[in-house]
Amino acid sequence: MEDRLFRDAMGKFATGVTVITTLHEGQPHGMTANAFMSVSLDPKLVVISIGGNARCLSRIKESGIFAVNILAANQQEQSMIFAGQIKEDREVTFETLADIPVIPNALAQVSCDVVTEYIEGDHTLFIGKVRDIRVQDGEPLLFYAGKYRSLETVPV
Ligand code: FAD
Ligand code: NAD
Repeated sequence: MEDRLFRDAMGKFATGVTVITTLHEGQPHGMTANAFMSVSLDPKLVVISIGGNARCLSRIKESGIFAVNILAANQQEQSMIFAGQIKEDREVTFETLADIPVIPNALAQVSCDVVTEYIEGDHTLFIGKVRDIRVQDGEPLLFYAGKYRSLETVPV
């Protein structure tokens, strides 16, 4: 099967956009990801999926921690920076939640400890046990069919 067919099909699943943050040698590192899911309420678990070539992969393995930052509609630039879609170096500011770097003004910041990792094909799934959460109101950034989108207000 062609990769393009698989990607086209998976791209029909509209998602939010997250930046996964972790610590590397005391410095924050981030990577854009839409492969994210809530797993369990008791205990509180989430899962992310990181490609084998991503620098983020070894950094999460080494640190044993990550945070999921669910981006707001006005944070497309952050998504592009952390996906390597903007090539110039940009100054990015971070804050911390439960000692893990997080993206300021994200709709939700979810700080986690890695409890299990599964290598599946060319990705590694990390199960994260939630350490702390911070949420704020706002509209989400969306990703659909390979393009950034935002929710449209539906007239009533
Ligand atoms: P790196 O090159 O290490 O980092 C990515 C970019 O972030 C670089 O340009 C780097 O300069 C910048 N950056 C990192 N830390 C900092 C910092 N502290 N300050 C300033 N800039 C910094 N890949 C997956 O594996 N799983 C997914 O679920 C996934 N979903 C995606 C969803 C979308 C919408 C998009 C656009 C891409 C997605 N990707 C996903 C692809 C992934 O984002 C890229 O392959 C990514 O660039 C690779 O990560 P890296 O750690 O190797 O890159
Ligand atoms: P695209 O058309 O490549 O992606 C559409 C959908 O296909 C994605 O939402 C994802 O569900 C799936 N997909 C894409 N690449 C994948 C991969 N390597 N492994 C597993 N699933 C994958 O969209 P695009 O705008 O060309 O994406 C920009 C870049 O980000 C591409 O290089 C793409 O590979 C990467 N990306 C990777 C993942 C991932 O690794 N899970 C997810 C989204 C985007």
